[in-house]
Amino acid sequence: MAHLFQVGAGSGGMTVLDIVCRDPRLTHVTLVEPDIYKAHNVIRHPFPMSAVDSFKVDFAKNWLEERRADLHVKTLRCNLMDSAFGEPIEEAVRSCDLGICAADNEPAKFFFDALMRRHKKPWTLGEVLSGGIGGFVHWFVSDGPCYGCVASHLRRTVKVDDGKPPDYSAPGGPAPETTIPASRASIETIAALHAQITLQLLTHGKDYAPGFSSLLFTLEKVPGIFDEAYRAHRFRVARAADCLICRENVNPHDLDRALDDALARLQ
Ligand SMILES: [Zn+2]
Repeated sequence: MAHLFQVGAGSGGMTVLDIVCRDPRLTHVTLVEPDIYKAHNVIRHPFPMSAVDSFKVDFAKNWLEERRADLHVKTLRCNLMDSAFGEPIEEAVRSCDLGICAADNEPAKFFFDALMRRHKKPWTLGEVLSGGIGGFVHWFVSDGPCYGCVASHLRRTVKVDDGKPPDYSAPGGPAPETTIPASRASIETIAALHAQITLQLLTHGKDYAPGFSSLLFTLEKVPGIFDEAYRAHRFRVARAADCLICRENVNPHDLDRALDDALARLQ
């Protein structure tokens, strides 16, 4: 019996959720996702055109129950950081066995990290790189490095795909945040790795020791970024002694400032 707490049912998140929930050890799921499924999602998402205009959580619940009649699926149709839902979110995390973060923005990843560490729960995070040239899978336990430790260590040189279509509305203008959408094939490959690592973490718990804390898997050769396609890079990121987010006895004022600083660096 295991209870999964997941945030995000986008193209990658729904794929991870679908795979992980085929494991009979999973008996309860709480899914947090505020969005409505749109026509432009169909090309990259497992849901069909007939799901357009449904809330993603509602369709996800049906999707899972059609495959696992015994699975208990609870949905929270809200943003993870919506304080109006703080209580049911805390309650779900308190009773979960592990978490999956498939959020598409950095503030939500930091927020998820803080939630899971507060309740000492293990969790995983998958990130597809812009253009689908590869992706990361990270796993976390409460006494290991936090998301802030990992993100600052990796100092990414390539932008993570945030799932939004590129903005071509300002031709000639500055567009530093423009990303190229990943293909369904790239999303599915990284989501499958994410699901695999999540299930291994469920199996081994505190004893999980795959030899890395973050796995980068390349899918394309990109001059100046990746020398080879289909290569795994295993990063063993240590907890940073001076990390203001996860060090012991951090005072709440310092934690707020550390989160603000971490988010400011990402702007
Ligand atoms: Zn940290």
